Amino acid sequence: MIFKALYLEKDNSGFRAGIRDLSDEQLASGAAAGDVVVRISHSTLNYKDGLALCNRSPVVRNWPMVPGIDGAGIVESSSHPDWQPGDAVVLNGWGVGETHWGCLAQKARLKGDWLVRLPDSIDARDAMAIGTAGYTAMLCTMALDRHGVEPGDGEILVTGAAGGVGSVAIALLAGRGYRVVASTGRADEADYLRALGAAEVIDRALLSAPGKPLQRERWAGVVDAVGSHTLANACAQTRYRGTVTACGLAQGMDFPASVAPFILRAVTLAGVDSVMCPMADRREAWSRLAKELDRSLLARITSEIGLGEALAKAEALLAGKVRGRIVVDVSR
Ligand code: NDP
Repeated sequence: MIFKALYLEKDNSGFRAGIRDLSDEQLASGAAAGDVVVRISHSTLNYKDGLALCNRSPVVRNWPMVPGIDGAGIVESSSHPDWQPGDAVVLNGWGVGETHWGCLAQKARLKGDWLVRLPDSIDARDAMAIGTAGYTAMLCTMALDRHGVEPGDGEILVTGAAGGVGSVAIALLAGRGYRVVASTGRADEADYLRALGAAEVIDRALLSAPGKPLQRERWAGVVDAVGSHTLANACAQTRYRGTVTACGLAQGMDFPASVAPFILRAVTLAGVDSVMCPMADRREAWSRLAKELDRSLLARITSEIGLGEALAKAEALLAGKVRGRIVVDVSR
């Protein structure tokens, strides 16, 4: 059977990206090997997919590569004991779209140990509207819980607010009763951010320049998708025994901070990784997303494109011009 896939190549003549017809045989070996074949109906574009599609940083480590770190669909065939044809599954991370052929395609061969069963109330499209960005927002929320942050403790700062992680984090945290402050570079998205539940919207310029090691205490918790000076300032403004969750690097990979917030205010810096996250946490995250994420807000966060539009959209994503989440319908 022939199916369509985005296909990235890099060799002596340079980098090329385009849509290709691939065969089941090509899925059976090498960087595509796995014990479950999934008929993907929807994928998505995360920041990391943007980097891969535009060849901006070394996300792809095997060539050629089918990109797409997230996919949702139906099991077509399986030699893994946990999965039967017809099962609805979601895949996030595990190096898929980086070292293993990914899900910006109508079919993927994946490892059964990587798959999560979709909760009944989440269909494939909604799963990709959430995607790695939304599941990471939930992992950040779970980390705040684990470190004892509660709505009565004070305000939560969400940085990169109009992006994918930020948008879902606002909806989740506001839904749980927190007073959420959204930091954005896009003042024209203030109404959107308030509609998701942000109580206040601040200019990201207030956080993005070098600041003092200790500043006025404000945040009980932080969800940071931005890194660099923004993360350093967020730590410097966090209240005694508050928790800062760090998951992103949209401003930069650097962390120009001091230890002062950690040793003088007992602030916790909690790292969040979605790619190799253990299965128990993934299942908890998806089950909580099914219960806690308001679907009408998810619809507001999401726009949809076809596979053929993914390359152009990836450029816009990296340019910070995409709001919220993008679902890719791989059938068109
Ligand atoms: P998006 O591109 O959707 O959102 C990123 C947002 O960051 C932008 O919308 C923008 O928000 C803000 N931003 C962009 N550039 C800058 C800048 N120079 N300075 C300050 N803010 C900036 O990406 P995602 O939400 O999908 O991902 C966010 C980050 O989290 C990425 O770095 C990504 O790699 C990382 N990530 C990490 C994961 C993990 O496992 N640890 C999983 C998922 C994502 P605004 O316009 O509101 O200012």
